[in-house]
Amino acid sequence: MSTIFQKIIDREIPADIVYEDEHTLAFLDINPTNKGHALVIPKQAFENVFDADIDLFAEMAATAVRVSRAIKSALNADGVNLIMNNGEHAGQEVFHAHIHVVPRFKNDDVFQPAKHTNYEDGESAQVATQIIAALEE
Ligand code: AMP
Repeated sequence: MSTIFQKIIDREIPADIVYEDEHTLAFLDINPTNKGHALVIPKQAFENVFDADIDLFAEMAATAVRVSRAIKSALNADGVNLIMNNGEHAGQEVFHAHIHVVPRFKNDDVFQPAKHTNYEDGESAQVATQIIAALEE
């Protein structure tokens, strides 16, 4: 299904494009968490990690590294967060895969602290076993 990001790739709607190569595009998020917040997308659409082509994902990751370094240098950022929301209940709104590159500055306080949970005795080993089994499928 075509999304708003396909329209950016096809130059049907404007965007502040900061990087482009054969496989990927990076542009500024229209609703930035901090100024310079960029999105890295594959030109060949996939939704998220669940249907991703691994090689194409690797291209996205490489572009995210390049863009992160440029943002840190250009904006004098103290760091960046790389964030990818995969699935509606993980906060994904646009179903064309994208990695957020969010510049961070000391004390910018832009994210709420994440909630945490705890394992019962032996539960983490059980969860690890389930994941290992799925990786071996
Ligand atoms: P997500 O919640 O991870 O799917 O994030 C989607 C992101 O796309 C949001 O941060 C939006 O602000 C951003 N976005 C949506 N439409 C546009 C657009 N036309 N240009 C740039 N960023 C956009």
